[in-house]
Amino acid sequence: MELYFHSLLKGLNLKTTPRRIALLEILDDEQGYLSPEDVWMRMKRKFRSLGLPTVYRNLEELHEGNIISRVIHPDRKLYYYFCRNEEHHHHFVCVSCRRVEDLNFCAGREMEKLVVEGIRGRVLSHILQINGLCSECVLKEGAVSDE
Ligand SMILES: [Zn+2]
Ligand SMILES: [Zn+2]
Ligand SMILES: [Zn+2]
Repeated sequence: MELYFHSLLKGLNLKTTPRRIALLEILDDEQGYLSPEDVWMRMKRKFRSLGLPTVYRNLEELHEGNIISRVIHPDRKLYYYFCRNEEHHHHFVCVSCRRVEDLNFCAGREMEKLVVEGIRGRVLSHILQINGLCSECVLKEGAVSDE
């Protein structure tokens, strides 16, 4: 487990420190996405004097290195998610319970065609994320509205 994190950090030329490992472990243990404050609260159990700005910085460096992804949430707050799936894929994000599911499908190719043929431009990268309610939250919503 720790060896895996070590190789991820090494790929970014980042030193393996107990803090970075702890941060990755916290994100890895979570089935859904976390805010920097959530991560900070959990980190503080082990690193008492740790400040929130450091957590922000550590999360951002991992995001810039493509190790963790940033979730674009309708509440406009910042959230991060760690995913072990290294294939190109996209995420379904439950806006209610914070669950994240992998969508092993990419519509980028077809949209690229629209850019090249329609706009005559060139695609450099794309961001795709589906926001919604997961199956459990859909059931809960149904239970509430039936009453
Ligand atoms: Zn949900
Ligand atoms: Zn994923
Ligand atoms: Zn894609």
